[in-house]
Parts: sequence; C-alpha cells; structure tokens
Amino acid sequence: MGSTTSTRNGTWRNWGGTVSVRPAREVTPASVDELAAAVRRAAEDGLPVKAVGTGHSFTSIAATDGLLVRPQLLTGIRRIDREAGTVTVEAGTPLKRLNVALAREGLSLTNMGDIMEQTVSGATSTGTHGTGRESASIAAQIKGLELVTADGSVLTCSEKENPDVFAAARIGLGALGIVTALTFAVEPLFLLNAREEPMPFDRVCAEFDALYAENEHFEFYWFPHTGNTNTKRNNRGAGPERPVPPLRAWFEDEFLSNGVFQAVNWVGRAAPATIPAIAQISSRALSARTYTDIPYKVFTSPRRVRFVEMEYAVPREALVDTLRELKAMVDRSPLRVSFPVEVRTAPADDITLSTASGRESAYVAVHMVKGTPYQRYFTAAERIFTAHEGRPHWGKIHTRDAEYLSRVYPRFGEFVALRDRLDPERRFRNDYLRRVLGA
Ligand SMILES: Cc1cc2nc3c(=O)[nH]c(=O)nc-3n(C[C@H](O)[C@H](O)[C@H](O)COP(=O)(O)OP(=O)(O)OC[C@H]3O[C@@H](n4cnc5c(N)ncnc54)[C@H](O)[C@@H]3O)c2cc1C
Repeated sequence: MGSTTSTRNGTWRNWGGTVSVRPAREVTPASVDELAAAVRRAAEDGLPVKAVGTGHSFTSIAATDGLLVRPQLLTGIRRIDREAGTVTVEAGTPLKRLNVALAREGLSLTNMGDIMEQTVSGATSTGTHGTGRESASIAAQIKGLELVTADGSVLTCSEKENPDVFAAARIGLGALGIVTALTFAVEPLFLLNAREEPMPFDRVCAEFDALYAENEHFEFYWFPHTGNTNTKRNNRGAGPERPVPPLRAWFEDEFLSNGVFQAVNWVGRAAPATIPAIAQISSRALSARTYTDIPYKVFTSPRRVRFVEMEYAVPREALVDTLRELKAMVDRSPLRVSFPVEVRTAPADDITLSTASGRESAYVAVHMVKGTPYQRYFTAAERIFTAHEGRPHWGKIHTRDAEYLSRVYPRFGEFVALRDRLDPERRFRNDYLRRVLGA
C-alpha cells in the first residue's frame, strides 16, 4: 500500500498533502472480531474511531485524533459466486488487487474511476466514480455490505436485508460504522474499444448531448487558457484485444502524461506567466489513438503527478452552462491553471448521499498541482458549481456544510436519522463529519 498511509513520527498524511493528523493510537486488525474488539475498547476509553483506506481523499474525511484503523490485514477475496454474479471482498482490499484477481477469473466490475490505488471501502465510502451513461459509481455496484457498528456488533445489509442501512451505507462517509466486507456485482470479462481524440472546446459543448448519448462512457479534459480538449469514448466491442503498444504506452501514458507533465507543472509553478503558452503546447501533445483492452486497463491509468482537486456533480442538463461559465471565469481572471479540467457523467442512482442520488449528473473536476495556491481558483469554481445546485465529491476539497448539503440532497435527513440510530454517541465522528452532517 502506498507510502501515503504511513504514519511518520506518529503523523498520518494523505496523498494530496492537504491533511496531516496525529492519531492517539492505531490498530491493524486481522479479523472482524479483532476490529470489533478494538471499537469496543475505544468506546471504553472514550476515543473516536476512524478507518482509513489509502489516504487518497483530499478532504479531512479520513482524519482522526482518536483510534486509527488500518486496512492492510483485512484484504483478499472471500468468495466468488458465479451463479449470482458477485464477488465478496474484505474491506481493505486495494481496487488494483481486486481488478487483477477478477480478470484472472474471467470477471470484471462494470465501471470504475481513473485510478485503482484506493481500497474498496475507502473508494466506495466517498462515492468514487468513473464516467458512464448507464453504469454508475463503484458503490452503485455493491450488492451487500458488512459493517461493525458503534457498539461493536456486526451488521449485514443488502437490498432485502436491512434495506434502510443498505441505501445509505454504500456511500457511508465513514459515519455509520466500519465496513468489513463488500459484495460487488461482477460480469464476465469484456473488452472496451477506446477512442481518444482532441476536439475543440466549443465543439464538445455544442455536441455534448450527442457525444454522451452515443457512447457508453464519454469523458473529456479541457485545458484552461486554451480552446482545446481531449475526448475519450469507451464502448464495448467484440475484439480482438489491441492494447496500446508497450513503447507507445510508455511514451504517452508515462513519459508525456506523467514525466513531461510533471516538468511542465514545475515550470508553471516557478513561472506562472508561462502557463497559457505551455497549455497551448501540452493540450496538443497527445494525438488521436484507438485501442481495445480489458476494462481496468482502459478505465484506469497511473497518476504520478501529485495534485489537489475539487469536483462537483451538477445536473447533467446544466453541464454546458457550467463549463462555459468556468471557462469565462478563467479567461477573465489573472489565474494561471496548468492542470486540465476533467468532465464525466453518471446516471441517477438510489444511494442516499451519492452525488448522483436521484439525479442524472455530470462531474466537473478542477485541479492544481500540489504546492501551488489553489484557493482562489477553487473558490471561484465552487461559486459556479453551487449556483447550479452542485454536490461536492465527499473526498475532494470543498467548503460546503450541512445547511447547504441538506438543500441539495433530498434524502439528507434520512442519512442523518440512520446515523443517529447507529451511532448516537458519534464514535465515528471527526471535524469533517461535524461540518457536513451538522453534528
Ligand atoms: C490520484 C487520485 C485519483 C482519483 N481518481 C478518482 C476518480 O477517478 N473518481 C473519483 O470519484 N474519485 C477519485 N479520487 C478520489 C478517491 O477515489 C476518493 O477520495 C477515495 O475515497 C479514496 O479512497 P481511499 O482508499 O484512499 O480512502 P481514504 O481517503 O483513506 O478514506 C476515505 C473515506 O473512507 C472511509 N473508510 C475507509 N475505509 C473504511 C472502512 N473500512 N469502513 C468505513 N469507512 C472507511 C474513511 O474513514 C474516509 O471517510 C482520486 C484521488 C486521487 C488522489
């Protein structure tokens, strides 16, 4: 597991470097029983408890000054049920381990995000998503869930068993208990035809509805200070497998997208005035390409340049206005932004606090390279997102509180009531949850 989760000198730090905290103590339970006992001991000592994944959240959602529960020994596949089309995994399993193990069995998740470093429980707890027309977030692929609640007991839920808990706990924000196992829907391994193509910003905006409707997975990156985007269309195909040739993959996905991109960001950080000119060049660096591969090799890629990020889900029909406003804001401001803006979509889902709960959504993500001031850019972007009733990604930087969130989530009260029932003493509290849930 990445060095991001190591606790140096007793201090835990997240991947983006936005959070560092000193827990009172740590445990790495090797079984559900050990975990339940640790929760009960913490309750006796009056300590709050927080499970962490790989620390890939930019917000302080995983931070605790109480008992920090590490995931490393709660990993692996418990069971594959081919008839039901499900896999049950321990909560601390990294997504990459799950994806590789599933592929070996000829199986796959339906959809996933950009990377696969996170744990299954960490990723789903904040609503981690990729892009999709019909297929939704990773949490929406959960069929069953097991968690240790505040009194140290084990609670299981699914659509049929404790459905009220299931509705909320799939994206539980770490507020309802510690997830110990997740059962995901899986399907026979399939192939995706990927088509990546530069496209003018104005054309993507004008044709967005068609690009979205014609593709199972459509996304694009807009390069601020330019009118350029890179689009990506992924659709299922019959094959044969035609992966990106290794040398080209290294050159484009490692050298250009990570190595050169890192250097570009260093130059931009040292001399921000050069960023618009550099953006014109870097937005044209990647040429069109097509390839066919298994899902996780198409959906995910390495992200080695460290950054900070804010991402909001807006109603899908508000996307183009949101983007045009964002572009106009950057164009008229003195801001210098060297990182592309990522745009994805999700269908409406039925999870209480999913960013796509009951609403067809489009995601807009703004980034700044780690170590550069991001507040002015993010504040201005957030003003645009919230004007469109945006819902912030729970794991990415935002300034919203319970008052705002209760207005944009029709089922907010349902989540809070369930939390009152499962964790009346707020064993799983931290400052972030106090802000977003109001207690
Ligand atoms: C480089 C990078 C790329 C990313 N790409 C995407 C993307 O494509 N799409 C997207 O939506 N997001 C993306 N993210 C955000 C990331 O997926 C989320 O922040 C995710 O929650 C991180 O998972 P983690 O395992 O690191 O969990 P952490 O950040 O360590 O924890 C997240 C939350 O999960 C809780 N948690 C962890 N384990 C448990 C458990 N066992 N029981 C209960 N609660 C638990 C924690 O308490 C915390 O509340 C990205 C982040 C980075 C840094």
